[in-house]
Amino acid sequence: MDYKAAFRSAVEQIREEGRYRVFADLKRQRGQFPRATWTRQDGSEHEVVVWCSNDYLGQGQNPVVLEAMKAAVDEHGSGSGGTRNISGTNHDHVLLEQELADLHGKEAGLLFTSGYVSNEATLSVVQKILPGLIIFSDELNHASMIAGIRNGGGPRKIFKHNDLAHLEQLLAEAPADAPKLIAFESVYSMDGDIADLAGTVALAKKYGAMTYLDEVHAVGMYGPRGGGVAERDGLMGEIDIIEGTLGKAFGVMGGYITGDAEVIDAIRLMASGFIFTTSLPPALTAGALASVRWLKQHPEVREIHQERAATLKAMFKAAGLPVMDSVSHIVPVLVGDPVHCKMISDMLLADFGVYVQPINYPTVPRGTERLRFTPTPFHTDDMMRKLVAAMEKLWAHCNVARMGGYAA
Ligand code: PMP
Repeated sequence: MDYKAAFRSAVEQIREEGRYRVFADLKRQRGQFPRATWTRQDGSEHEVVVWCSNDYLGQGQNPVVLEAMKAAVDEHGSGSGGTRNISGTNHDHVLLEQELADLHGKEAGLLFTSGYVSNEATLSVVQKILPGLIIFSDELNHASMIAGIRNGGGPRKIFKHNDLAHLEQLLAEAPADAPKLIAFESVYSMDGDIADLAGTVALAKKYGAMTYLDEVHAVGMYGPRGGGVAERDGLMGEIDIIEGTLGKAFGVMGGYITGDAEVIDAIRLMASGFIFTTSLPPALTAGALASVRWLKQHPEVREIHQERAATLKAMFKAAGLPVMDSVSHIVPVLVGDPVHCKMISDMLLADFGVYVQPINYPTVPRGTERLRFTPTPFHTDDMMRKLVAAMEKLWAHCNVARMGGYAA
């Protein structure tokens, strides 16, 4: 058996579909965000503006966060020293879990090494805790939620994206006495739309279901203290488990869940993705703690962030570019074809100093390939004007129909 040939042909298939990914080699320098230095394959270096960072608020450069991380290394060293069970629980883990519980108005929090792991580990274990549990999952839920639900191996029903009528139909069809859990996100990261939390909570109440909400693209950015869309909508108390990441708006790395103490305790004791892996190191927990605390106190950053996103959307619209109908800080522009999407992204980088990664299948459905811009409070009007001018030139050059996406 020629094993290598199988790997090669898998790559070829991806290449033929225009989905072969090349990672931009970026050097970030403290104080330069959102600028970075891009190293081409020939070794030459170019300054670019990063337009697709999930460091949504620039917290990865906040001196308060950086100083906390440096101090933690000086005081506590590098690694955490083990799994949480075996010598890997440090005081900052405890403080951070309390801080996150407070952020979401919950009794308890539990840290994981990433948002991905928190979703996978939690959702894969809930059906063991609640035998017969039926999970109702939004069709556009993140891969980590899907992986968790699949690994759990119990019954699942997929409802159409943000379609409460369909969700209700599926809930009504299920046996009335079966335990149920609705798993959904607040801000959906690829379209920038936001779920109807109040409507979902009302259905959960009506059908006796638990709720699991992924606020990965909302924590730090929505709500008076950065508690997410549930905080903004006054619904934190109505959601059973709120999940988030420390790696996006908080600018560090790690994931977590928050909820009732008894719920969190069961997951702590049973979830493999929590138990069998080295815990977050001191620098990360200290940085995250500083970041969460700082963002709680700085609502003005959230306001500037929303203003920047609204400005960029308006500028794209005024230029006749097909900006998608996003109600959040995410600004997707539809291309609708993987080859054109990659071509525009490559040209933006090489000729205009704009770095925005093409978003292709399987991250989004085929035919909806897009460029996804994430303006931060640090993106200036001048950067936006240059971006829009570059997009206009390339759109005309690549023959992408205005306001309608790609035209052959
Ligand atoms: N949930 C959603 C909705 C996400 O988009 C992502 C990552 N992009 C994750 C979870 C995983 O979070 P992390 O990057 O912290 O692993």
